[in-house]
Amino acid sequence: MTGDERHPDISAVYEADSGDSDPIIALMRRYVPGNTGVFAIAVCTTILHQLLTLVPPYLLGVTLDAFFTGQRTTLSLVLVPHAWIPSGTRGQFGLIAGLFVATALATALTQAVQVVTFRWFQQSILHDLRTDAYDATQRLDMAFFETEATGNVMSVLNNDVNQLQEFLLGGLRQSIESTTLLVGLLAFMIGLHWQLTLFSMSFLPVMLGLVYVYQRAIEPRYDERRSAVGELNTHVQNAIGGIETIKTFSTERRESAQHRSHSRAFWEADWRAAKLSGLFYSTRRLLTEVMSLTIVVVGGWWALFGPPLVFSSPLSAGLFVTFLFYGRRLVQESSQIGDLVDTYTDARASTKRVFGLLHYPSRISGSDEAEQLEHVDGRVEYRDVSFTYPGADSPTLECVTFEAEPGEFVGLVGPTGAGKSTVLKLLLRLYDTDEGTITIDGTDVSMTTVGSLRGAIGYVSQDPFLFGGTVRENIAYSDPNADERRVVEAAKRANAHEFIRDLPDGYDTAVGERGVKLSGGQRQRIAIARALLKDPPILILDEATSHVDNQTELLIQESLSDLSASRTTFVIAHQLSTVREADRLLVLRDGRIVESGYHEELVERDGLYASLWEVHTGETTELPEQLRPHGE
Ligand code: ADP
Repeated sequence: MTGDERHPDISAVYEADSGDSDPIIALMRRYVPGNTGVFAIAVCTTILHQLLTLVPPYLLGVTLDAFFTGQRTTLSLVLVPHAWIPSGTRGQFGLIAGLFVATALATALTQAVQVVTFRWFQQSILHDLRTDAYDATQRLDMAFFETEATGNVMSVLNNDVNQLQEFLLGGLRQSIESTTLLVGLLAFMIGLHWQLTLFSMSFLPVMLGLVYVYQRAIEPRYDERRSAVGELNTHVQNAIGGIETIKTFSTERRESAQHRSHSRAFWEADWRAAKLSGLFYSTRRLLTEVMSLTIVVVGGWWALFGPPLVFSSPLSAGLFVTFLFYGRRLVQESSQIGDLVDTYTDARASTKRVFGLLHYPSRISGSDEAEQLEHVDGRVEYRDVSFTYPGADSPTLECVTFEAEPGEFVGLVGPTGAGKSTVLKLLLRLYDTDEGTITIDGTDVSMTTVGSLRGAIGYVSQDPFLFGGTVRENIAYSDPNADERRVVEAAKRANAHEFIRDLPDGYDTAVGERGVKLSGGQRQRIAIARALLKDPPILILDEATSHVDNQTELLIQESLSDLSASRTTFVIAHQLSTVREADRLLVLRDGRIVESGYHEELVERDGLYASLWEVHTGETTELPEQLRPHGE
């Protein structure tokens, strides 16, 4: 199995999981049930609001026919019982005026309810979606983050979720509005005058045809614009991330020129799309006007001289006015369909990516029988462990077998790239082994809950990450309620207390984003203190002393023997002196343990460790054969 098969593309995950089912429907199925009430109110008020907007043109037409034209028909209103209509003209006029006012009030009220309920519905769904997506990223294994670019994951969490925000507030509401209007308009129009309706509808295919052609033509231009803005953003992101390198190499001008050309490319791509949409919107406008004008001319003729061509029913002046409004509205609404298709297509793509993230398969499989790891003594055993990184061609570890007793201090040494860090990442289950087993106190780590496993292990990496906060918050990261005494004690044991005390605000000094205000060595010592505060039965230091000076290293080395006395400690060190005192040294090369034993024992053996030691002590100035990369 290759790494890529194990780590599919984010949006492909949704398709593989759900077959052809529409992602928007899946989104609704998953999130609407928690908001059914509010959604129902939002939909009902939207429908009602749109239908109410159709009332005034109707009332206007009826009023004209009843009072102002020579025809003076008797007043009759759809849905209003005849008995309710007063007999006198004043009474009738009063009724119409009352209906106008009532419609205006109801329109305003339904709009207010619609806006707030839709906003609530949208934010509630987005909140659920955002937190689900975030929680999903926290659950995913490290391999995922190595396969997927960070930018990609961020883009799902930000852009795609925002895209859905637009859809939920704009597109979804608009589609309910447009559907209601189109259906309502056609029903109203057919009810009032089906023949003129048939005539007005003859324009629809022209409008829909125009929208279709535009959609096809604009799509590639939007794609171009999207990729241009993507390149522009990537460049800015890289330039800010690599600002130190840019400054030290004095390449500001070159970077500026690149930025200018990316920005220019974006402008040009946008211009190409803008030209086409300008043409489309003006044509659409022209078409709407032509259609309205045609309805004016044909309707006017119809009202004045009787039905033209094959048509037979007469048209009153009032109905003619009503149709002018309705016909225009029909044409306008049909031209909106293109925008809706656009938002819908974007929302589909975004939903696929967000759902892809939610359904992303984790390689760290949680077994139903997983048990809590409790009261750990710290006996660690690796048996025939093999592992290959996702996407790598050759195995990173092969048949790694060793044991560590509780309280033992184990040093891992070997050339860079030998697999030392990987051995310990498997213990933390940042990855699962391909073959073989790793046990703690006899329990297979793959059968333990990840939380309890990691709770038993303290880990300090080569380049520890500090969160933007105070020194105290960073040390107490694993236990935010830890009291002052415990924080200071942990700092003292990591030899960090002295320098922390000398910082401007001591333990309350802000460390800056990622701890930039501290030196590499200071960051490492804070990270060691952080691991010690947890007081774990197993401690891993992965080249945790690589950034400290010789003096500090000696201090840490001193405290190491103290630290390791009560816990199983694994130390990866490039300075062999750090692990010289280890109870057991494992020497790795090309993913295999090639030697193991005490320092003296290994020096005697005259193998790889002896060569490394010679280099370390400066006994040799030539790189021994054993340490030369293959093929040289
Ligand atoms: P060491 O700690 O001995 O320097 P590592 O365990 O970090 O070695 O790496 C062992 C090998 O695995 C190296 O060849 C390295 O390039 C490769 N490797 C390390 N991390 C990854 C990763 N996340 N994805 C793919 N390959 C990796």
